[in-house]
Amino acid sequence: MRLEDKAALITGGGRGIGAATAFLFAEEGARVGIVDIRDEGLKEVAAQAKQKGFEFKTFGGDVSKKEQIERVMEEFIQGFGRIDVLVNNAGIAISRPFLEKSVEDWVKTLDVNLIGVFLCSQSGARYMVEQRSGKIINISSIRGIDHCGREGIMDYSASKAAVINLTKTMAKELAPYINVNTVAPGHTATEMTKSLPEEIKRNMIEGSYLKRMAEPEDIAKAILFLASNDADFITGQVLLVDGGFSLK
Ligand code: NAD
Repeated sequence: MRLEDKAALITGGGRGIGAATAFLFAEEGARVGIVDIRDEGLKEVAAQAKQKGFEFKTFGGDVSKKEQIERVMEEFIQGFGRIDVLVNNAGIAISRPFLEKSVEDWVKTLDVNLIGVFLCSQSGARYMVEQRSGKIINISSIRGIDHCGREGIMDYSASKAAVINLTKTMAKELAPYINVNTVAPGHTATEMTKSLPEEIKRNMIEGSYLKRMAEPEDIAKAILFLASNDADFITGQVLLVDGGFSLK
């Protein structure tokens, strides 16, 4: 019960890594809220939670819209009384070759992956500062690590690199009561990677020293560690969960 009674909000909790994190947090005793732009995802995950004996509070909202996120945060605080853990997990990737990439692709990607992290963190940190405690975990990507940016998703890669930089600055500015860290997942078997050509998926598996893609639960376990008291003296760090992919 590493999160007993902790109030945790997870963005993009309607499937994939966010949903796996929500279930793991609940198993560890947390009171869980999930926010997602897709209502059907929220409904599905809440129904699955019920089957497992948990009750999730669900919030429809777009992480890149300030008013929506402030409303979500207010409702979360009304429901839970406080916020102990915020996981900024919602993210998107639009794949298009460099010469065809549009400004719209860039703006949409940065809005969700970077501005969304800022807005949710600012909104949650206001309460955490008052509480004098809190943990924020931002989800970056292996693609955000120096030389690991990927062709076709250079905007995504840049947004994830920026999340790492933002994490470190937030860690300084929100210290000493709030810990801010990043989990950078490697290739993970979720909807985000499902539609990729088989050859690319094979390369992803071959490129990992552990010879498989991550399951969402592999990433959730790292997020749990950084959300728990076990990580009380860790801030501003990047935890790579990539089966060794970045070693190459
Ligand atoms: P996913 O696409 O399966 O799930 C993402 C969830 O975020 C969806 O439920 C989606 O509806 C929600 N979402 C998208 N935009 C939103 C918005 N504006 N507001 C609120 N919710 C929104 O993706 P995933 O694979 O579970 O990825 C989760 C995070 O992990 C993302 O930040 C992603 O970039 C990162 N990541 C994923 C991989 C991978 O290989 N799957 C690798 C590295 C990093």
